[in-house]
Amino acid sequence: MGVDNNEMYQDLSKAETSSSNLKDQWGLVLKKLNSEYGNEVFNSWIKNITIRNLDEDVLNFTVPTRFIRDWITSHYLDKIIYFLNQENSQIKRVKISIDNSLSANMLNIDKQSNQLTKNNFYKNSSAYTDEWPLDERFKFDKFVVGPSNELAFASAKRFCLSEVNEFNPLYIYGGVGLGKTHLLHSIGWKLKEIDGNKSILYLSAERFMFQFIKSLRQKDTMSFKQKFRSADVLILDDVQFMMGKVSTQEEFFHTFNSLLDMNKKVIISGDRSPNDLGSFSERMKSRLSGGLVVDIMPAEYELRFSIIKNKYSDLRERNRNTYELDNAVLSFLAKTVSSNVRELEGALNKVYTFSNILGKKIDIELTKSVLKDLLKSNNRRITIDEIQNKVANYYNIKIEDLISSRRIRTFARPRQVAMYLSKKLTTRSLPEIGRKFGGRDHTTVIHAVKKIEELKNGNSKFDEDINLITQMITSV
Ligand code: ADP
Ligand code: MG
Repeated sequence: MGVDNNEMYQDLSKAETSSSNLKDQWGLVLKKLNSEYGNEVFNSWIKNITIRNLDEDVLNFTVPTRFIRDWITSHYLDKIIYFLNQENSQIKRVKISIDNSLSANMLNIDKQSNQLTKNNFYKNSSAYTDEWPLDERFKFDKFVVGPSNELAFASAKRFCLSEVNEFNPLYIYGGVGLGKTHLLHSIGWKLKEIDGNKSILYLSAERFMFQFIKSLRQKDTMSFKQKFRSADVLILDDVQFMMGKVSTQEEFFHTFNSLLDMNKKVIISGDRSPNDLGSFSERMKSRLSGGLVVDIMPAEYELRFSIIKNKYSDLRERNRNTYELDNAVLSFLAKTVSSNVRELEGALNKVYTFSNILGKKIDIELTKSVLKDLLKSNNRRITIDEIQNKVANYYNIKIEDLISSRRIRTFARPRQVAMYLSKKLTTRSLPEIGRKFGGRDHTTVIHAVKKIEELKNGNSKFDEDINLITQMITSV
């Protein structure tokens, strides 16, 4: 008996430590998810997850509603599993169930916070952004103007300054990372500066949908409608998100119309022109383009260089006593990272941080090595097909065998190598990679990546093989 008890205690304490480890690991995963997706997605979706327990290799989660579960599963689950697996290799799968009691709880908390925001909403000028404060760094005076964005910039300013709406709505579109959100925030700041009593709503289309659905769930669509229709200014970011979401679109259309009818300013951004918003209804498209439509084009080199110089001097202002970056490095960055300004800024931050970690000035060679991955993806997109081709070639096997279900070593190892390289050299997600390898599960891909990493570490010949194949793939 005594022995049994002892064992039981040991087991219990083991269970306790492992569950506290699990909490820590989940905490780290949450941090990564937050930086991967940003606050907005994090607060809207990921924060709803409660972890329960680990059952062999399955981690059990609960969320308040089916909708949240489906949304998380289809949008963020890959990354969640991937990060979890990095922290705890035992975790291979995740099971999400619905816990209705959470939902009741959440409604309560929501109600309270709604009440709080409602109370503050119209009185307190700093609470005007509907729980989403505008970013201090995104103001007009921090926006660098060049030929590719001057029309959008001038229109945005004009839109703020005109008493009577010469045009309404203002629709700004362009590719990722070209400054749309920056301009939208700038408009918000400016309008607030002009008239502090105006109620200005800024939110992304994703957030709009989230709140709309929440109001349906709470059977409180009246206050939702009321809130949006009583705004003086509505700024909606990334409207393309509503493509295919019929009821959200419909609701937005009504909100939008009633604001325009009252001559309230509406500003919208999208990644494409209104006409190209595939599944949007014709009346919606025409209403969206009924004011002024302007685009932002990718920045040309001179503009990229001025932007990066500006961002660099901001960085230096915020962090004193740090190492300087040469103009040559800045110009190298502006030349090589040409796809979008966000990546350019990311590259600058990375180089800057490294220079401080290393405690020395950074030259171009070092810059190149710090930014290896980024430069690679800016140079050329590598496809999974190419990788499969090269790997099959290297190991002298047929592509059919590489993606077949045959498990003999001669095929299985090259297959794992090809999966590993697909993960390393492309931006494809795990399920996408799995599908390209004869419809395999994403956990098989995770397993392959880990296996190859292990082998590389323990076997220098194998490591060389991998490097060689990588070179063959990347040096074309
Ligand atoms: P988008 O919304 O179009 O995807 P963002 O507005 O988020 O892009 O811009 C990404 C980053 O690039 C932000 O940090 C923004 O400040 C910066 N940026 C983009 N264009 C400019 C510009 N013309 N001047 C200064 N910063 C810019
Ligand atoms: Mg944006």
